[in-house]
Amino acid sequence: MSIDREFDRQHIWHPYTSLSTPLPVYPVVSAHGCELMLEDGRTLVDGTSSWWAAIHGYNHPELNAALVTQSQKMSHVMFGGITHQPAVDLAKLLLQMVPQGLTKVFFADSGSISVEVAIKMALQYWLGLGQQEKNRLLTIQKGYHGDTFAAMSVCDPIDGMHSMFKDQIIPQLFAPAPQSQFDGEFLPEDEQALTALFAQHHQHLAAFILEPILQGAGGMRFYHPDYLKLARKLCDQYQVLLIADEIATGFGRTGKLFACNHADISPDIICLGKALTGGYLTLAATLCNDKVADGIAQGAVPALMHGPTYMANPLACAVALKSLQLVQQNQWQAQVATIEQQLKLELKPCRLSPYVADVRVLGAIGVVEMKQNVDVAAMQKAFVELGVWIRPFGKLLYLMPPYIISPTQLSKLTSALCLLSHQVQQKDVKALPGA
Ligand code: PMP
Repeated sequence: MSIDREFDRQHIWHPYTSLSTPLPVYPVVSAHGCELMLEDGRTLVDGTSSWWAAIHGYNHPELNAALVTQSQKMSHVMFGGITHQPAVDLAKLLLQMVPQGLTKVFFADSGSISVEVAIKMALQYWLGLGQQEKNRLLTIQKGYHGDTFAAMSVCDPIDGMHSMFKDQIIPQLFAPAPQSQFDGEFLPEDEQALTALFAQHHQHLAAFILEPILQGAGGMRFYHPDYLKLARKLCDQYQVLLIADEIATGFGRTGKLFACNHADISPDIICLGKALTGGYLTLAATLCNDKVADGIAQGAVPALMHGPTYMANPLACAVALKSLQLVQQNQWQAQVATIEQQLKLELKPCRLSPYVADVRVLGAIGVVEMKQNVDVAAMQKAFVELGVWIRPFGKLLYLMPPYIISPTQLSKLTSALCLLSHQVQQKDVKALPGA
């Protein structure tokens, strides 16, 4: 029986898509390694890792086995008043991997929720210390932290969903997006702008939240590690917590295990998700240091007030544990470095296209920024016809392939991308969030 696409079109919302004028969807029946198989039998090389999560590829025998084994013991059990081996093992391994000083783990059910929890931790910390006036967040423009309300409040105020929800979103403080490029000079303007905001507003700031090094869904921008060092310094100086949203960057994507490692800094709170389960199940984690945990514990309500039904779901924890073990065994550093080299070489010809504004590569991330927004439906169709799965958004065509991709598969992606960057059909549509 074929997938009922008409029913889908009539009744099911897809991400950031209208039900009245939906973008086309492609029926996928299976996925193996780095390939998605369409219902009509065509296979597509995957350039997205399913929104940056499936770092080990699809249908991985060891990840499958971890799920099967765990499902035969228990698929789920409430986490209130109960604990279990998968959660304890996963938390232990996470604490070994993350930047130094992070000691406490909260398992959340998605990236956005882990950001909500991080924000809640920061607010409860200051309540615990009796400084309830420290209740605002500082963040940077062009950021993206998720689709729930507190997360939306720290997304880019222009390209995010601020204008639509202006009366519902908590007003926060925005620093200009860093202009210092990852491998360029660290510009004094960036330092001055951020320093001035801390100096002026620190009495009301609970935390500074940012995506370290890579601003992902807000524009795929890579910025200078010194900006992170400065963020850490100013947070210490002005007593503001630092929240690193590593949901997109965690587990090696930028060439370091965590993007914070590019600057050798540790945040007070870190959010992890996406690649945590190797793209198998929705699970995220918010980790904090002792200082934050102790501050929360001093409050009139000493408990962290969050506890979702599926918290620390054993299936998700078991598959995440295996995914992280694979990260360690598979020498992710060599995998990512090899992908980086190939992306640098093979995306270079895109620069020759008159439609291309910029080409940039960091770790296993290759970005081709067009001069104008692209027609997503037309371009997606053209990519599928070339046998690749690349999902453009706004002006951006990008590759974030699984770490296990072969050089031949990666070349298929880069050549499709180069070809279409020269022939782009452009359309003046407002950019929607991409991931
Ligand atoms: N933060 C960042 C940096 C992200 O890239 C994303 C997802 N693209 C999120 C938060 C939200 O995660 P989720 O989609 O799992 O809610």
